[in-house]
Amino acid sequence: MNRYNNTYPDLIQNVVFSLDESDTGIIDVSFEYELPRSIFKFETKLSDAVNITTASGFVNNDGRWVWDQSSTELKLDGKYRLSENTSEGAYYVDAGEWAITNAPSQSSDWRYRGLKPKLIKNCRVEGGGIASPDGAVVFLGEHEVIENSNPVQNLMLVLPAASDLVELPSEIFEAIEHTSQYLDVGGYGGEVLMIAAGSDEARWGALGLQSGNSGFWTLDRCRLNQPGSTWIHEYVHTRQTPTFEPSMEWFTEGSACYYAALCSIQLGHISFAEGREFLKTSVDPDAVVRNPETWNTTSTKYTKGRRVVAALDCKIRDHTNNSTDLRDVWRFLNRRYETAGYDEFLTALRIVVPSPSKVIKWTDHYLNGTETPPLPRDPATFGLAQ
Ligand SMILES: [Zn+2]
Repeated sequence: MNRYNNTYPDLIQNVVFSLDESDTGIIDVSFEYELPRSIFKFETKLSDAVNITTASGFVNNDGRWVWDQSSTELKLDGKYRLSENTSEGAYYVDAGEWAITNAPSQSSDWRYRGLKPKLIKNCRVEGGGIASPDGAVVFLGEHEVIENSNPVQNLMLVLPAASDLVELPSEIFEAIEHTSQYLDVGGYGGEVLMIAAGSDEARWGALGLQSGNSGFWTLDRCRLNQPGSTWIHEYVHTRQTPTFEPSMEWFTEGSACYYAALCSIQLGHISFAEGREFLKTSVDPDAVVRNPETWNTTSTKYTKGRRVVAALDCKIRDHTNNSTDLRDVWRFLNRRYETAGYDEFLTALRIVVPSPSKVIKWTDHYLNGTETPPLPRDPATFGLAQ
């Protein structure tokens, strides 16, 4: 476990969670490190939300945990206080008997000789629970897991004992499977954790939240027969590979809303008219979509964002006789960029769309200006069969 790793030149960081049932709002967390021989200095800085109670092999130097350079057992045990009480409500909750959380932030620094060590991060739960591979979504407590595997992804639906799912798991899997295939844009995490959070168990700040590469929670009362299905919306986020800059927030949320609506129409959960009504929202009409500073509300990325995304998909389809659509642009962004802003989006359009000048002009007009794009009335324009 926590000792020199002689076999491989890897640096291994394990985060281990467990419930502290004596206290709500606080969970137990441990950080374990395995250092290869090549490393001769190592230190780590943890989130302020973590209070270390026992340190092995480390000394505290002004908030940084510094390896004493002789110990082979490197471990920090502590208490992690979840920031539950935002004005909108909670995004992570510890109710004592169960918790939904994410891994606290940590940044480590090291010096080495010879071969550069590769950092391997792991996350696990002790005493009941499950974590997404990157630790960005973690459930602690009594639960059941239903798995559904396909050739590209292993979908894991987590049903906490304190949840009461209103949809059938099979219906949720069908919706996510369909969306997974329709969005052939790459960016597949091999495993996706989908937690049904108990709606009545906390004052939640959202209907769902995706975090990291491969996990999200959605409230157990969320339905599939709604235009902006939270189950599909949060799943769509897991397929957005680049870190998007503020100039792309309209795409991050707009595409999650748009493809949730489009896939729900394809699945027959909602009618085209209901989907189109959801997409043609005219909230915050004066906002310049690519510039969040011009928005009247932070929800503009969801409202005008989804209308612009929908209209742009139709514009690209119309321009290319349905041979290219917005998924092709997204696939390019997923493949090419770790971080992407509006300029990278324009580059993707130029490369992916044949004879792109009219589409670029359209995009510049509606994303850099205040005018709201018209939304076509014909389902075929959205690539939908009549
Ligand atoms: Zn979202």
